[in-house]
Amino acid sequence: MSKIINGKEIGQQIREDVAKRVEAVKAKGVTPGLAVILVGDNPASKTYVANKQKSCAAIGVHSELIKLPSTTTEQQLVEEIAKLNDAPHIHGILVQLPLPKHIDEDTIIAAIAPAKDVDGFSPVSVGKMMLGQDTFLPCTPYGVMKLLEYSGVEIAGKHAVVVGRSHIVGKPMGQLLLQKDATVTYTHSKTPDLPAMTKQADIIIAAVGRPNFITKEHVKEGAVVIDVGINRNEENKLCGDVDFASVEPIVSKITPVPGGVGPMTITMLLENTVKSAENTLK
Ligand code: NDP
Repeated sequence: MSKIINGKEIGQQIREDVAKRVEAVKAKGVTPGLAVILVGDNPASKTYVANKQKSCAAIGVHSELIKLPSTTTEQQLVEEIAKLNDAPHIHGILVQLPLPKHIDEDTIIAAIAPAKDVDGFSPVSVGKMMLGQDTFLPCTPYGVMKLLEYSGVEIAGKHAVVVGRSHIVGKPMGQLLLQKDATVTYTHSKTPDLPAMTKQADIIIAAVGRPNFITKEHVKEGAVVIDVGINRNEENKLCGDVDFASVEPIVSKITPVPGGVGPMTITMLLENTVKSAENTLK
């Protein structure tokens, strides 16, 4: 098996399975539908949203974009979400983050009906995930779990060190690894001597948001390294949190950036949306 974990290929494989599930629910009269709310004109957000819509179209998922001006109030946004919560043709609601400063993200995320929370960010989804109950898992860590599974990486009994503790990546990532019986260590900006921690890891998950931050000094020989980071380096080129050139020679497996974790996030969003549509048929 190759050392490089190919997220593009694995993502495509999963999307083909998801496309079959789309056909199956359509045959029962339900077209999976995703609503994406975009507030303001953040260029990166616009690109992400366009990619999500394109990916939906490619597998027959209906998607609609609700574009709101940056002057939208929190109350107006909550009302928009309430309409979508009640819309029978919409199975997933996604609010593209970040939101303008005057809108409280927690309030908005909590306004999404748990049954349509395909990003898996709401307190109900997070709580269910913690309890190991069936729910929508947050797309990026869920995608990482799929990468590990499809690449045959053993998790049970392994020591996983997660670098980063954000609500959307680091924290749920550790939780999902724990559920698969890894011994999990969380590290963050207040962790003294990070290399001493990461050097012990069989599996390192880098979710820091700093270009080429994890170097070979952080990595034990033979470890599996998953790079969640999406950054721009000094030459404005896309790069991860891992210094691929120095780390790749000593690991057993590694994800590249781009083409590693990135393609998995949208893949799992599609999966969650189809799962939500399937749930309406139960
Ligand atoms: P956040 O900025 O929310 O979190 C970064 C985390 O890294 C924090 O927990 C922070 O610690 C920790 N950190 C910062 N500096 C250090 C340090 N010197 N040593 C150890 N830990 C440190 O980022 P996100 O979790 O949202 O994203 C992380 C990266 O993943 C980004 O590059 C982002 O672009 C990318 N990303 C990629 C996705 C994909 O689809 N592939 C999806 C989402 C994100 P502390 O909590 O103490 O501040």
